[in-house]
Amino acid sequence: MPQKYGQNFLTDKNIANNIVNAANLTKQDEVLEIGPGKGILTKIILSQSKYLTAVEIDNKLFHKLNNYITLNNIKNIKVINGNFLKYNVPTTKLKIISNLPYNIGTAIIQKILPLENWSCAILMLQREVARRLSAHTETKSYGYISIFTSYYAECKILFDVSPKCFNPQPKVVSSVIKLINKNQKQPEAIFFEFIKHFFSMRRKTILNCLASFKHLELEKNSALQIINACNLNPLLRPDKLSTLDFFRLTNEMKKRIIYRL
Ligand code: SAM
Repeated sequence: MPQKYGQNFLTDKNIANNIVNAANLTKQDEVLEIGPGKGILTKIILSQSKYLTAVEIDNKLFHKLNNYITLNNIKNIKVINGNFLKYNVPTTKLKIISNLPYNIGTAIIQKILPLENWSCAILMLQREVARRLSAHTETKSYGYISIFTSYYAECKILFDVSPKCFNPQPKVVSSVIKLINKNQKQPEAIFFEFIKHFFSMRRKTILNCLASFKHLELEKNSALQIINACNLNPLLRPDKLSTLDFFRLTNEMKKRIIYRL
């Protein structure tokens, strides 16, 4: 079993039904599935949707799934043999469903969230990652990826799934999450870089974080003025700041300084 592909196949049909049902599919919906594997979700999606595009990296699984489709004369699916991280996602309106390959789960999430044409995504990933995606300020799980997620989507943990529901069994509990696209404009690239920088120093004060941001040449005093203008306490740690606080900081920073990219 090539573990590099994060291949833990779901074997529990009830869980598979619950995952697909969470997307509330209709015969008008086009769906994207990442990593169909042996097709447990794929077959349910096909019976409930208009069209499915499935992207599978593993050559053998791709051929098996294609044989099944040909044998059963299924017309409403296209299976692509490739790496989803390098795949150009179609621009038609989509719902996304996936039992994600856990080794690249966050990379996949960072690829799909900024896309404009998805409406909802039902994803299974490690419980710990699900908690980070949906975390709120002042919790241990809160960090860069929580803000990234909440910027683009509403994120809700639907239910947990025991390792017993997979073959081979993963070492950790999984969770299924539902993301709803907020249809936000792309922020300036500096916005997420800024937040990433703060959380790379999450035990430092926000004053130190701001003063050491590499795209700025800020004296501590100017950093303090920016923080004061946002009515924030300079001694706070980054995990106390909401997405809105980071917006205010970025805007205040832009007003005062020309930053280097
Ligand atoms: N959907 C199946 C299920 O629920 O049993 C399989 C889920 S398994 C956790 C992840 C699947 O993603 C595997 O089939 C694996 O080969 C595939 N995969 C891994 N990395 C991938 C990538 N970069 N692009 C596309 N598929 C990938």
